[in-house]
Amino acid sequence: MLPYRTLQEAEVVLGRELTFAENLWFNYSGQKSDYYLYCHNILFLLCVFSFVPLPLAFMELKRSKNIDKYKIQPKVRLSFYDMFRCYKEVMRMFVLIVGPLQLVSYPIIKMVGIKTGLPLPSGWEIVLQLLVYVIIEDFGNYWIHRWLHCKWGYEKIHHVHHEYTAPVGFAAPYAHWAEILILGIPSFVGPAMVPGHMITFWLWIALRQIEAIDTHSGYDFPWNPTKYIPFYGGAEYHDYHHYVGGQSQSNFASVFTYCDYIYGTDKGYRFQKKHLGQLKEKWRNDTKQDYKSE
Ligand SMILES: [Zn+2]
Ligand SMILES: [Zn+2]
Repeated sequence: MLPYRTLQEAEVVLGRELTFAENLWFNYSGQKSDYYLYCHNILFLLCVFSFVPLPLAFMELKRSKNIDKYKIQPKVRLSFYDMFRCYKEVMRMFVLIVGPLQLVSYPIIKMVGIKTGLPLPSGWEIVLQLLVYVIIEDFGNYWIHRWLHCKWGYEKIHHVHHEYTAPVGFAAPYAHWAEILILGIPSFVGPAMVPGHMITFWLWIALRQIEAIDTHSGYDFPWNPTKYIPFYGGAEYHDYHHYVGGQSQSNFASVFTYCDYIYGTDKGYRFQKKHLGQLKEKWRNDTKQDYKSE
């Protein structure tokens, strides 16, 4: 809740006129409690989990020839039921784990100093903070994911996420409840170390999930804007990790490729990349034959 009763009062305290964005924020958040604002994340996550993978699901159901050439594992075809089962499980985990985790983690957010007031951060401040968050999360995620591939971690926890050997968007948050909890930790470390505004925190939580859906899309589109992000792994990179499955000791990082490069866990992928190219060509030709015979 903002400590000003009127816009004029806020302007007097800040010593300047409010920007357009600050005006909007004042009108929206002025009378809302910080806890209520924080809980917006539940709604944002619900929307991201439900709507962002939808276009990918339609593509998977339609599997038109024009789009299929970008499918990373074109031989695999998931049905409506497969995807619905995945979404149902994601929603079950959302109600049991993700939602309650958001509700109870508020004191930590308050303690680390996430702000809800004015002035709002500049665009650059938001971008730089998000960059710090993603680097920290990627590094933490790399080591936790690598640990989840030890015998115990895989058999007890991580095998659930690997049920989809050819991932689809809805499968991005599909995981064992313990994995959701453990992998949630690195997402909070960045905001705890470099606390920002609530808006930055909302953006971070939503962007992180959108990135995971992109990585699990199952499609390698040449026009994907993420292709311009240096060291970005993307769908093909993570698809290989799912394709190899439980035995995979390659491509652990969630966002960038440099951790796998530095710690030598992308050797299998780099070795197979050539071979995979040929295999993909073969799959594609087989799929073309399938279309002709349909
Ligand atoms: Zn894995
Ligand atoms: Zn995955």
